[in-house]
Amino acid sequence: MRLEYIHSARAIVGGTLAAHFAPAAPIAPSAWAAEFAVLPDGEYAGEKIDLRRTPHIVEPLDMLGPDAPVNEIAVMKSGQTAFTTMLLCAIGHSIDRDPCDMVVVQPTDVALRKFNSIKLGRMIELTAPLRDKVYPQSSRSAAGSTTYEKRFPRGSLSLLLASSPANLRMLTAKKALCDEVDEYEDDLDGQGDPLSLVARGQKSFKASGTWKRAYVSTPVIQDASKIEEKHAAGDQRRWHVDCPHCKERIVLEWNAPYDPTTHGLKFKKTFPHQAYYVARCCGGVIESAQKVAVYRTGRWVATAPGPGKYPSYHFDELSAPFSTWDGIAADYVAAGNDPAKLKTFWNLTLGLPFNVAVDAPDYELLMQRREDYPPEVIPPGALLVNVSADVQMRGIYVEVVAFAPDQQSWTIFADYLDGSTTEVDAGAFAELTKLYEREWPDTNGRKFRADEFLIDSGYRTDVVYEWTRRHPGTRATKGDDGWSKVPLGIATDQDIDYRGRKIKGGAKLRLMGTWPLKSKFYTYAALMPIADGAGLTFPPGFCHFGRFLDENYFKQITSEYLEDGAFRGRKRKTWKQRPHRDNHFLDCRVGNIAGAHAYFTSFKADDWAARAIARGVSAEELPVEAPAPAANAGEQKSYFEQLASLNKGL
Ligand SMILES: [Zn+2]
Repeated sequence: MRLEYIHSARAIVGGTLAAHFAPAAPIAPSAWAAEFAVLPDGEYAGEKIDLRRTPHIVEPLDMLGPDAPVNEIAVMKSGQTAFTTMLLCAIGHSIDRDPCDMVVVQPTDVALRKFNSIKLGRMIELTAPLRDKVYPQSSRSAAGSTTYEKRFPRGSLSLLLASSPANLRMLTAKKALCDEVDEYEDDLDGQGDPLSLVARGQKSFKASGTWKRAYVSTPVIQDASKIEEKHAAGDQRRWHVDCPHCKERIVLEWNAPYDPTTHGLKFKKTFPHQAYYVARCCGGVIESAQKVAVYRTGRWVATAPGPGKYPSYHFDELSAPFSTWDGIAADYVAAGNDPAKLKTFWNLTLGLPFNVAVDAPDYELLMQRREDYPPEVIPPGALLVNVSADVQMRGIYVEVVAFAPDQQSWTIFADYLDGSTTEVDAGAFAELTKLYEREWPDTNGRKFRADEFLIDSGYRTDVVYEWTRRHPGTRATKGDDGWSKVPLGIATDQDIDYRGRKIKGGAKLRLMGTWPLKSKFYTYAALMPIADGAGLTFPPGFCHFGRFLDENYFKQITSEYLEDGAFRGRKRKTWKQRPHRDNHFLDCRVGNIAGAHAYFTSFKADDWAARAIARGVSAEELPVEAPAPAANAGEQKSYFEQLASLNKGL
């Protein structure tokens, strides 16, 4: 028996079809969910799912049922969009009504454990037909479930890690649910990318045409995003709502937030943001209070239909029923022009990949912008001093950068330490040790050791390891290619004894995501001071360069550019070095930004204020206003503005 596939979300949700079926009869996943599924977490934890609250997940959910004539779907989404619930309902339906071998692939161990214990495990416990069918873990027979493999009559569900090629190569599954695919590696130790391995594991179901594969993810980086690519290959459905004024179908879009003459979300830059929406069709205003009602009028419409295209979906917080437009406005204002925060906003709020590919500014332009501040002195407003070193066959390049809480930076020292680099206590390394021990004065003569000291271990690796072992607080790093790499990875032990155990006090290495860091640096280096009536102010992230820095320094820090390339069959921009240009000072700067990253992501205004006091910064140098609580972006900005005005005195 083949149940006719029902397109209208409301027909399923509002209907009572499910009640009339015998228990094992075919039933669309959304109808099954409405009848049986109990939510494992969130506001309605422990309650039966009410799909009228989230009608946008009904259609993609039903695409994963056996009666939908599609094999693949792709969902490119922001945060707060209930697509994890969609995956859970698809799994539940399949266990109960369409048993087969399934896999769920998660990018990390943490994500996998969270999905298993907080989401899936709880839903199985709470949902009667699943509780009855999934074999308990305690059972010692071969049929029993394990932590990461749920067994049930005529099928199984394996939870797999995208980073484990061994697991992925062994899988055989009719249905594969690939979650947060943008966090998957591009390549698993030369064994291909995880999505190809998943596809290979579904090959035996190709002939019957019954296989299903879902890609669900928040996108991360433009031109490197797997979900962006999968979404673009599909028919690109958007949630079309009824304009309450003229009834035309529109998609809620992010557009020129401060220009009320265009369509899109509009709001004030300061709190309260009083966000509202201007409809593209008739210019009518949709108030915040109407958001949920307008959302509920929505339905999916393909914006790029075509033969052979699978359904792909894009959904964001502008439409999502759980987020408010004022909240979106607040997030955007708080992001300011910080590329890292804007990236988060773009990814998590708009569900769009962020363009991090920013080319180097012209070196002559940066040279012209040099300022008259003293070298080797921490300027007023800076509360962090980082040193970064790049070791060569002969000699070590070193850069010292002071940072303010708003990420303004000052290069206070840049030099080449000439000498051999083969010994840890002689030649250039002896000079580096002097820098390690050095104290850097501020303009009031107080002196501070460097807060972070990073040294690239790509060359003379063993000497670098030994040097970092001998100099507490220093970190050995190694560049890690790729757009999705974190600025500074966790430390991994490099010294292992003959039994494979780590040696206490041994060398540690941190991988450094140099690609996005270079983009961040070039974004900041391109910032210009803002001229107002009183003089110049510097935007957050502004890079100050002293008159003492020479042409060679500027040529090196701007030595790389982006080139279109391909990686394992996918297009990808990569950094290339300009001909006849060294890039050592660029590597140093990347290290300095990597070392500062944790401060800028974890310190609140209060933490910076405490640090200023701990450093004995005098009352005149402190902001007059008390630092704002962390959540209040508006006040925090004025704190930063005060720092900027302090810096004007330079
Ligand atoms: Zn209208």
